[in-house]
Amino acid sequence: MRINDNRLAVAHGPLIPTPPKPSPDIFTIDVEDWFNVSGRGEPNPDQWDGLPSRVEENLHRLFDMLDREGAKATCFFVGYFARRFPHLVREAVTRGHEVASHSFYHRIVSRMTEEELFQDARDSRLLLEDVGGKAVLGYRAPAFSIGAKTPWFFERLAEAGYRYDSSVFPALHAVGRMEATRLGPYSVDTGHGRIDEYPISAVQLMGKPMCFFGGGYLRLFPWSVISTMAKVVKGQGRPVIFYVHPREIDASHPRVSMPLKARMKTYINMGTTEGKILNALQTFRTTSFERYRRAAGVVSDVTLDVHADSGSLSVSAAASY
Ligand SMILES: [Zn+2]
Repeated sequence: MRINDNRLAVAHGPLIPTPPKPSPDIFTIDVEDWFNVSGRGEPNPDQWDGLPSRVEENLHRLFDMLDREGAKATCFFVGYFARRFPHLVREAVTRGHEVASHSFYHRIVSRMTEEELFQDARDSRLLLEDVGGKAVLGYRAPAFSIGAKTPWFFERLAEAGYRYDSSVFPALHAVGRMEATRLGPYSVDTGHGRIDEYPISAVQLMGKPMCFFGGGYLRLFPWSVISTMAKVVKGQGRPVIFYVHPREIDASHPRVSMPLKARMKTYINMGTTEGKILNALQTFRTTSFERYRRAAGVVSDVTLDVHADSGSLSVSAAASY
């Protein structure tokens, strides 16, 4: 087995600084419910109010695990759930986690117009800032659904007020996949300022990037393989970015009806995820993007102006190295 990403060409903007060694890794939670199964029969948002929700209980369990292990996370909230359960956003802030955006209605970005993406991303940021009282700088696209069909993505995301993103998925994925010329973090200059991109961690295996650190991959592979591959990523000077969903520690949650193959991928090995998350938290020193970036000297100067009349927050952020 040959593991080598030297052949990856330098493209995009410059590399983003990493924290001094031993550098932490990054733990992320996409805060959504059991029915948010992108492209596999996800119900329309106008039906969500009528569905039983498991996100509160499952997110609390994840928060308790993180607290017990002394770890912090970035919580990419779907705006709908921040509006329905605002206390979860405030609890994330109180427990020292970072609040970021996972869109407003979990719509696939590659099926949106650029104006729809801009409005959805901006609205979810403003809502999360209103509820959490802190600037929101990070974004992750539902199902990592950016790529060749969304060449405007970084430009419009920066315009919507974001400063970093973790939507590039360099390996095989059912919905989203973006060809990455570099596996590590890089920056993208746009007409609305710079976006720092943190692609989901992948390992180059036999010429192809492969993922091990979240979603179906975390469920599929045994921990011995996941931890070995995490060490490969770290050995190449990159952070391991774990990504989990609250439903994945709740093996008995209701199932969305879908074809057998999709069902296999969506629900495989569900019962093993909680143990693997615990292993990840105990083996690696994980933190949020916010803390990771601060440790790396990536400073974001953020001003929050509270408008007493509307009760909404106006945020301006300028990041600099
Ligand atoms: Zn999602």
